[in-house]
Formats: sequence, structure tokens, C-alpha cells
Amino acid sequence: MALVNEHFLKLQGSYLFSDIAKKVKAYQITHPNKRLIRLGIGDVTRPLPMASIEAMHHAVDELAHAKTFHGYGPEQGYDFLIETIIKHDFTSRGIQLSPSEVFISDGAKSDTGNIGELLRWDNSMCITDPVYPAYIDSNVMCGRAGTLNADGRWSNITYLPCTAENKFIPAIPDHEVDLIYLCYPNNPTGTTLTRDQLKQWVDYALMNDTLIVFDAAYEAYIHDDDVPHSIYEIRGAKKVAIEIRSFSKTAGFTGVRCGYTVVPKEVTAATLEGGRVALNPLWNRRQCTKFNGTSYITQRGAEAVYSPEGRKQVKETIAYYMENARIMREGLTHAGYEVYGGINAPYLWVKAPQGMTSWKFFDELLYNANIVSTPGVGFGPSGEGYLRLTAFGKREDCEEAIKRIGKL
Ligand SMILES: *Cc1c(COP(=O)(O)O)cnc(C)c1O
Repeated sequence: MALVNEHFLKLQGSYLFSDIAKKVKAYQITHPNKRLIRLGIGDVTRPLPMASIEAMHHAVDELAHAKTFHGYGPEQGYDFLIETIIKHDFTSRGIQLSPSEVFISDGAKSDTGNIGELLRWDNSMCITDPVYPAYIDSNVMCGRAGTLNADGRWSNITYLPCTAENKFIPAIPDHEVDLIYLCYPNNPTGTTLTRDQLKQWVDYALMNDTLIVFDAAYEAYIHDDDVPHSIYEIRGAKKVAIEIRSFSKTAGFTGVRCGYTVVPKEVTAATLEGGRVALNPLWNRRQCTKFNGTSYITQRGAEAVYSPEGRKQVKETIAYYMENARIMREGLTHAGYEVYGGINAPYLWVKAPQGMTSWKFFDELLYNANIVSTPGVGFGPSGEGYLRLTAFGKREDCEEAIKRIGKL
């Protein structure tokens, strides 16, 4: 008899996006002539950089000939990509990494979900609230999150509310926590931490022997000089932090799939007997056992993101999205809304007016302006009373959305 992992049964169906889809579909059937503007789901819309397209075409041709064919690659990724990443994303910012500290993957979601395998199930953990759902659900699956309380919070997770009241800067916990997830620039709030603010987290982790999982999926959207691109810009972070990056939001790889994780040699976790174990060899072992590498074609495409043409093309695409963000941010502010984010991230976090709930505000926008958004409460209890809008849409749609909202 195969016994099921009962922790899976504790998961609440993540019905957020399917609930949204149902509402949208019902509205469309009853109002077939209304044109909806979709600013809900966090997927990019602009095509891949041409440099990546060309590199992938070339890689496909290589696979067509026995002499240049590639079969299984290294589980950790090809050196050509790892070395390019280190040079452009780290050495250029004064951070030294060795190739064996970088692991290429099929994206940040897998890595954020899988990294917890290196840690015992009974570590205490902490998240910022609202949050990217994978951090919580992957910990529920192994029993680390505990049980779900009536208030929608998990019993073994410390929630750090991020709201307008604390300017979306989570308070440092007042007790020891073993594991924390930080995502900056943040999805869903679009806000970020300055170097000084992130330093407080690194200092906390060094003091309390905490492991930080730092999700930097939106690093490429950083505009302000005082916002760190990597947690390793902070002194001491290599001892306490694993950093996860993605080509998805940077270069439109949401469908192609490529990301990477940095596990510095210095980062360790404790054994029950009080010894210390380096996590780098464990992650290497985990990847070699359960992952057979990102495709050669994909890694050539990712490498091209760093070429002079690739960098220019990526910059243009990000500038396009961030101009969308600016237009929406200014339009919403002008219309009297409280708006956060949209400066170092492609998300706007909009406060629902007059104490409305997230879902009430969602309905309002859907029914009266025909705009699809994401209710903030879907990202956690502290998201109640907010909505997320993405800047990943078409320019005309963003402009039209603001016109419609202005008329509400
Ligand atoms: C989109 C997103 C990811 C997922 O990235 P993939 O590389 O496509 O898996 C990870 N973290 C956050 C916060 C995201 O918003």
C-alpha cells in the first residue's frame, strides 16, 4: 500500500487565478461586446531578444551534425553560461564567485521550491506578507509550514506584514528564525529594499544563524542606485544567503525556461550534533540526482542575453515595460489612488479606495472599467485591501486602462 504524503492534503487549492478566470469568463459571456484589458497575470508579452533567437537558431543547427551535437550537458550548466553570468552579474559589481557556486536551472520557481530539500522539515521559517506563493506551498508539502490556522496563516511560519503603514519594509523578527525568504524587488508589491535595509537582514542572519533564500527574479528592473542587485553586495551575505535568479522577467524566458541559483561555498547549515555542513555540495548532489540540466539550446539563448546586442535589446524591452509602469502609476495617482511600486519593478500595488476589500475592488475594475487585475489578498493576509496590476501589457492597453479608470 502506498501511503500518500499527507502534507499535500493540507494545501489549499490555489484557486486565485482560476477564480479570476471564472469571473472574467462569466463577465465576457454576458457582455460579449466589451473589450477586456488584462493586467492580471505576471507574464511578459514582448518577444525574446533577437540575440537570443539567433543564438538558439545556431544551437539548433549545431545539434543537426554529429560533429557539433550535444547530448547530456553538465547538470550544473555549461561553463560558457556560468562564466558569462559571473562576469556580468557579479564580477562587475565587485562580487567574486567561482564557477562551482553557480547552478543553471530551468527557472527560479523550481529552485525556490526545491532548495528546502537541503533543510530538515522542522526548521522555523519566516516570510514577508504578501508573498510569492511558491515559498509557502513548497514548505507545506514537506510539513515545514505546520497546519493552517483559521486566519489563513500557517502555524509554523512567521509572517512579516508589508503594508503602506510600514512602507512595505518588513520588521526584523524579534526572535530567532532558521530560514527566511526575501524577494527584492518584490512580487507582488513592486517595492524594494535599499542597501542599508537589506544589510539589516544580513546582519540579523549572521547574528541568529539564519539562512536567507534571496529571490532576485526582478533584478533587471532596478532603477535606483541605492537598491542592491545582489544580496552579495552586502558584506557577510555569502555566509548566510542563497540567491536565485531567472531569465524569465529579464529576457522573456517565461516559456523558454532558464534561471540560476548561487550557493556560495561559505554557506552552511547545522547538524543536530552541532556540526556545520556546507550546502554547496548538497545542492550539487541534489541537482545531479534529480535534474539533468537545462537544454543546450536554452543555455546558448541565455548566454546571448549578455552579448552587447542582447544587453541592448533587453534594456529596450525593460524600458518599454517600465514606461508602461510610469504611465499607469502617474495616471492612477492623478485619479486619486494610492499607488506603490512601479519604479524598480514591473508591478503596481494599488490601495483599494474607501476601505474596499481586494475582491470588491477587483469586481469594480472588472465590471465598470473592464480591467482584469489580481486581488492582493490572494498573495497573503496582508495583501487584503490592495490590487496588483502588471506593467507587462501592451502600451495602448495601459493607456486605455488609465483612461477607463479616470472615468470611474
Ligand atoms: C516569475 C517569478 C519567478 C519564476 O521565475 P521562473 O524562472 O519563470 O520560474 C520566481 N520568483 C518570483 C518572485 C517571480 O515573480
